[in-house]
Amino acid sequence: MPQVKPKVTLISHTPDPERTVAAAARLCYSPAHLDQVFDDMTPEKAAGFVDMLSEIGHQSPIEHASFTFGIEGVSRALLTQITRHRIASFSVQSQRYVVEDGFDYVIPPEIEKEERAKALFIEAMGRAQEAYSTLQKQLAHVHEAALIAEGADPKKARAAAQKKAAEDARFVLPNACDTKMVVTMNARSLYNFFSLRCCNRAQWEIREVAGQMLALTRKVAPHLFAKAGPPCVAGPCTEGKMTCGKAEEVRKRFSALGGDAT
Ligand SMILES: Cc1cc2nc3c(=O)[nH]c(=O)nc-3n(C[C@H](O)[C@H](O)[C@H](O)COP(=O)(O)OP(=O)(O)OC[C@H]3O[C@@H](n4cnc5c(N)ncnc54)[C@H](O)[C@@H]3O)c2cc1C
Repeated sequence: MPQVKPKVTLISHTPDPERTVAAAARLCYSPAHLDQVFDDMTPEKAAGFVDMLSEIGHQSPIEHASFTFGIEGVSRALLTQITRHRIASFSVQSQRYVVEDGFDYVIPPEIEKEERAKALFIEAMGRAQEAYSTLQKQLAHVHEAALIAEGADPKKARAAAQKKAAEDARFVLPNACDTKMVVTMNARSLYNFFSLRCCNRAQWEIREVAGQMLALTRKVAPHLFAKAGPPCVAGPCTEGKMTCGKAEEVRKRFSALGGDAT
């Protein structure tokens, strides 16, 4: 049952995301035919179109660029938060089909740094694992016997019983239990995601994941994501009395990711 940390990889993205967005934008503003929108679209021209879209706030052309991420080493608590973002596609490792033998878990940093809290946390993980494994075995035994009594093939009955048992045993697994997923969002939805989840008001785990996602997208599309991040990166803080009061520090952190956020 090892401890895990959030790790994001950029699995794939729309080829040439900035040229694709720029070509879509060119079609909006010129009488060009479809087979001409990529003509002479150098990286510099594409960057100019993308910067112009950002300047005038024309957001729909950036929906043509999509990004697919692998996210691992995160908790089921994070899963609940990230899947609230409806303009996205998710594929998540199933606790119905995968038996959680020796599940990995995420320890919140504030618990990690307190020795006694950490010991209690790890003990709780051990107890959850024990309850899960005992329940899973007991239920699998009952289901296997029932299926065989109904005339099922013993080998198939064993496999089906394992899955059926995992379905119910997982109810004792904690929020800390690790999960992995593949997530796809287009650039417009990512802007909204970064604005909400890179902000200091977001919880530490999803903020860490959003920060890694933003760093990865800025590498492949620096102009497209130049102003992405919490609202204070490109303007004043919008959190009112909930402000963290650290806008200057946040701006520095996001400008260090690369791309010009101002
Ligand atoms: C700091 C913080 C605290 C939070 N606390 C809570 C909480 O206590 N409880 C809770 O339940 N959630 C909470 N949330 C989650 C939050 O309410 C949103 O569900 C989540 O951030 C997804 O944002 P979204 O709807 O903008 O994203 P998406 O679902 O990706 O939607 C993107 C945009 O599309 C538009 N849109 C999508 N669906 C609709 C629709 N049906 N009708 C109209 N417009 C739509 C909206 O403009 C929306 O901003 C919190 C989020 C943050 C960042």
